[in-house]
Amino acid sequence: MTRRVLVINSGSSSLKYQVVDADDGTALAVGLVERIGATGGRLSHTTAGQRHVVEVDVPDHAAAMAAMAQAFAGYGPELADAGLVAVGHRVVQGGEAFARSVRIDAEVLDTVIGLSDLAPLHNPANAAGIRVAMAQFPDLPHVAVFDTAFHLTVPPVAHTYALDRKIAAAHRIRRYGFHGTSHAYVSRAAAAFLGREPDQTNVIVLHLGNGASACAVRGGISVDTSMGLTPLEGLVMGTRTGDIDPAVVFHLARTAGMDIDAIDDVFNKRSGVLGLSGRQDMRDLVDAAECGDDAARLALEVYCYRLRKYLGAYAAVLGRVDAVVFTAGVGENSAPVRAGALAGLESLGIELDPEANQVRSSEPRDIATPGSRVRVLVIPTNEELEIARQALEVVDSRG
Ligand code: ADP
Repeated sequence: MTRRVLVINSGSSSLKYQVVDADDGTALAVGLVERIGATGGRLSHTTAGQRHVVEVDVPDHAAAMAAMAQAFAGYGPELADAGLVAVGHRVVQGGEAFARSVRIDAEVLDTVIGLSDLAPLHNPANAAGIRVAMAQFPDLPHVAVFDTAFHLTVPPVAHTYALDRKIAAAHRIRRYGFHGTSHAYVSRAAAAFLGREPDQTNVIVLHLGNGASACAVRGGISVDTSMGLTPLEGLVMGTRTGDIDPAVVFHLARTAGMDIDAIDDVFNKRSGVLGLSGRQDMRDLVDAAECGDDAARLALEVYCYRLRKYLGAYAAVLGRVDAVVFTAGVGENSAPVRAGALAGLESLGIELDPEANQVRSSEPRDIATPGSRVRVLVIPTNEELEIARQALEVVDSRG
């Protein structure tokens, strides 16, 4: 029997959805409702190789969910006959409450909402999506899959900030890490690609999309990750600073008279490679750097240098590294970024094969030289499939 999962990623102004066949990994339908709560709402729905785009009026998440249901009814597949056995919801912040995916009941939903102070942009929107989906599909089990859960194994030595411990405890301040669904999927796929058991395999995963994070995975378990209390920390990203001296905040407040919201906006939305070069898309950045644009060249160098520093740090954390794994939009597609990140790391046993690095493919592949002690892999991530699989695991474990 085919078993399919409706995967829902409900953001503050968008609703992404997929019907995923958890057995063969295919997506039967992929959709996006945009501009929830604003004017000019739009739905796109792709199924059977056809993309349908319509204008929709979506004042809230309930309207977005209704628009999604209408798209399934109009363009297919018919949801009632799609073999759905669960709905899997992406939830950004699970705090210390959720070390794994869980079936959603009223208590789980309350806990997700209670974690909103840690993720004010995400958890309320995730919860809104869960509520309306549970009303729309009351007979299916709903499962929450958390971005943070994979990192709850990070030990105190790595997740503790050297901050006044009473303040940290009172406000639940620690490193949580994000992109956990992707790091879990990719680290497991890397072990499978190498023909090894996950619990015998040490990898450093570089998830490089618009947001970017590194994860040190020892024996299938996350032992350190670069994002922290929020997704701002760590690597240089499309629009985020990544690591920066926290005193820059005090400096801007005192000398530039900026308030906290303005600084938040600069750090999260107007920094990273965009802030350095005026370009957020890695393709544009690389093109501009190759054409001699100095700001673009420096942005690319800063981006790759930060990656090298994290690789060195995580090599020290892990002791033995079997593979460095690149994933997500930039990691899967940008040969110049991969080359820049790995330049000069031969002493760590990491040797990139320049020709293999240039090959374009959507398949998992090894781009290290034959003699490289550490393998260098490109593994396409698939967060929706991972959510679908985890949802099924939760449903199955209940018998
Ligand atoms: P998100 O974090 O939004 O899920 P993705 O994983 O889709 O992001 O990655 C988006 C990034 O991937 C963009 O910055 C884009 O520049 C980059 N990207 C996509 N395709 C390519 C490509 N062919 N070459 C270089 N970068 C690419």
